[in-house]
Amino acid sequence: MIKGSCLCGCVKYEYSAEIDEVAVCHCDQCKLAQGTAFATNAPADASKFKWLAGEDNLTSYFSSENKKRVFCTTCGSPMYSQRTDLPETIRLRLGTITEGKIPEPNYQIFCKSESQWLVLDIEKPRYEDNKA
Ligand SMILES: [Zn+2]
Ligand SMILES: [Zn+2]
Repeated sequence: MIKGSCLCGCVKYEYSAEIDEVAVCHCDQCKLAQGTAFATNAPADASKFKWLAGEDNLTSYFSSENKKRVFCTTCGSPMYSQRTDLPETIRLRLGTITEGKIPEPNYQIFCKSESQWLVLDIEKPRYEDNKA
């Protein structure tokens, strides 16, 4: 069981499955949305994901026509993203996980826009764009 929260604590969730795929995403959108050099995201089965509190305090922003980024309205914590053409999958922001096991990253995507000011020593497969 995975549990997570936003920074202010009003949004809480649980995920009743394992995290089995972790991506380091270097895309420009994740950098701006997260305020970090890269994001760590995992695909999760939307049907096994449940809000425990604060669902009505979430705001969605469509950063692309078919992709929304969902964050806490009060503290701004990015919670997940979701594509309108893939509603059964959410991409959970792993920094919001407060309980449960997170495996090592499996791969890095959008390496073409990797921040040059931070040197990461991650020996995982690299993809210039998204993983096919
Ligand atoms: Zn919050
Ligand atoms: Zn990204």
